[in-house]
Amino acid sequence: MSVQEYLDKHTLSRKIEDAVNAAVRAKTSDPVLFIANHMKKAVASVITKVKARQILDSRGIPTVEVDLHTNKGVFRASVPSGDSSGTYEAIELRDGDKGMYLGNSVAKAVKNINERISEALIGMDPKLQAQIDHAMIDLDKTEKKNELGANAILAVSIAACKAGAAEKEVPLCKHLSDLSGRANMTLPVPAFTVLSGGNHASNHFAIQEIMILPVGASRFEEALQWGSETYHHLKAVVTEKNGNMGCNVGEDGGLTPDISSLKEGLELVKEAINRTGYGDKIKIAIDVAATNFCIGTKYDLDIKSPSKSGQNFKSAEDMIDMYKELCAEYPIVFIEDPFDKEDWEHTKYFSNLGICQVVGDDLLMSNSKRVERAIQESACNALLLKVNQIGTVTEAIEVVKLARDAQWGVVTSHRCGETEDSFISDLSVGLATGVIKAGAPCRGERTMKYNQLLRIEEELGDQAVYAGEDWRQTL
Ligand code: PEP
Ligand code: MG
Repeated sequence: MSVQEYLDKHTLSRKIEDAVNAAVRAKTSDPVLFIANHMKKAVASVITKVKARQILDSRGIPTVEVDLHTNKGVFRASVPSGDSSGTYEAIELRDGDKGMYLGNSVAKAVKNINERISEALIGMDPKLQAQIDHAMIDLDKTEKKNELGANAILAVSIAACKAGAAEKEVPLCKHLSDLSGRANMTLPVPAFTVLSGGNHASNHFAIQEIMILPVGASRFEEALQWGSETYHHLKAVVTEKNGNMGCNVGEDGGLTPDISSLKEGLELVKEAINRTGYGDKIKIAIDVAATNFCIGTKYDLDIKSPSKSGQNFKSAEDMIDMYKELCAEYPIVFIEDPFDKEDWEHTKYFSNLGICQVVGDDLLMSNSKRVERAIQESACNALLLKVNQIGTVTEAIEVVKLARDAQWGVVTSHRCGETEDSFISDLSVGLATGVIKAGAPCRGERTMKYNQLLRIEEELGDQAVYAGEDWRQTL
């Protein structure tokens, strides 16, 4: 018998002895039931092992996966990675050795999990998410998690959350809802990326994505159907107008026709929506990701066309005029990052026009200090929640609360480099964020998230509520 087996056996027999003694002391009329209940509590699962490895994300770039073991089973989580990595987001630890995956390997983060994090967490109750997350934050000791790596910490945080749900024998979304103190779970409206550009595609389109939101569907399942149908109609429209090369997909699964203006893209999407026959039950959103084509204080919408780039700069005021015109012509319900991430002034001005919801992604970087500032200055009115910019489930819940208390909308978001983990689907339901942006209804790492939402809706049965027209405020 190994030392571990001996200890396990010894601890178990002591627990049985304690239970019997407690039953005697309680003078219970049903000692068997008493002992059974006592034992159930006494042998509650703890974390017994944490084992990480390096895997590849959807772009073929290394990321972290972890298996967290409890007496209940093995719980797996992996973390995504994005294109925009700003000054305020938690640090993704990469090895930087150019001879290994061009500097992108994550062996240090994996080692940190297998040694330091594992040692700190073994024996902890997986239900106690905040304690687990704070144990890792304390171990790291840095503001941006650069010591252990936010990629290491988040992978464990998510795996622990899954283990906590299993321990409570509730669905993951319910556990998240309990952790957040929210009573209502809501199926989010999916914001499907249908056209890709910017840093996520190799066409000449500077804008990062055009999305569609089936707000008028009655259930998530129907929203997914409408999303898929629109996407396939769009393929036909793009093929007719731009040739089938435009149907290659970008990192998020959106089609990539070689369009040069936002209006051209919106026309294609409008035509696809028309062909579905669902009319204004499907709305449109745009992630401009304007930081990527901001040069000084000007915006170069031709930045990806070498022959035209630099010749037609737009001022922030020109951009505002363009947004106004487009919002008047198309059913645009939100615009994400309409200006550079440090252009608070124009973001605020545009947001206060009240034409559509203004979502802060690069502007906020899911950072609570930036969110607080944006709330104080009324700079935008919705948060794009990217969990890996924060680094723990507990802090993600806190930043959503901050946004909600300010009556903001919240969009749960994927990253362009995704994995097969569908945690954000449960997160969006548990925190009732109202919208989830997980890419196109295409490509496994994206459909994984949407398919999980189908399962959640099925599991919730009569209790399932689809955010629909209430996508802004699901409180
Ligand atoms: C985004 O900008 O909304 C996004 C998901 O992109 P990335 O993951 O590249 O930051
Ligand atoms: Mg964005």
